[in-house]
Amino acid sequence: RKRDVDDHEKLEKAVQELDIKSEIKDFSDLPLSQITASGLEASHFKTLTDIQSKAIPLALKGRDILGAAKTGSGKTLAFLVPVLERLYRARWTEFDGLGALIISPTRELAIQIFEVLRKIGRYHTFSAALVIGGGDLKQQQERLGRMNILVCTPGRMLQHMDQTAAFEVGNLQVLVLDEADRIMDMGFQSSVDAIIEHLPKGRQTMLFSATQTKKVSDLARLNLQDPEYVAVHEAA
Ligand code: ADP
Ligand code: MG
Repeated sequence: RKRDVDDHEKLEKAVQELDIKSEIKDFSDLPLSQITASGLEASHFKTLTDIQSKAIPLALKGRDILGAAKTGSGKTLAFLVPVLERLYRARWTEFDGLGALIISPTRELAIQIFEVLRKIGRYHTFSAALVIGGGDLKQQQERLGRMNILVCTPGRMLQHMDQTAAFEVGNLQVLVLDEADRIMDMGFQSSVDAIIEHLPKGRQTMLFSATQTKKVSDLARLNLQDPEYVAVHEAA
């Protein structure tokens, strides 16, 4: 479909030409797919928060991100929008397997991320699932191989990587660690290290937390490539 090809090329060009220093105020000022833009609009998101306007342009360009901003500042969209766009621009389909993995320290936070993903991603055709402890392991195993985006907690994710035969992560485009400081504080460092060991190195990685992420960037196998530090501090 020629029009589809044209749209993708236009979007790719707009992302390349996006000036990361320009102050983006509204989602409509960003080079986004119409599908994501419509999902944001339908979810009543119009103006970007500070962390979003700092992180999203860089993330759209494929940069690795170490983001820090306090709770409630809008970090979820700061990574979900780039995740959707990365897969869209890669023309990801249901047959391409796992494209994005989002790791969260707790089940509750994973559920919240998943709900936001379903809201803003409502017009996309990607398959997405929650992989959290307490869910039915067998049922999760059967669906996992067909998923494009997973939101998970570290323990359950690692269990699947070790036990689920049909689970392929070799195509992964984006890894997100949300609340990375809490993931570390809660003692998940070795689980996360083990998960990362399974993942391809060419991927994009984004870390977000409420505090400075220095400790987190020590993660042995994170393989961050020239990461961009993005922080929003409270006004004095
Ligand atoms: P954080 O992860 O930094 O704690 P969240 O992503 O959970 O923050 O967002 C906190 C609240 O702000 C949520 O209720 C969310 O819907 C709202 N929010 C996030 N981004 C925007 C935005 N651009 N415009 C309006 N509300 C937003
Ligand atoms: Mg959050």
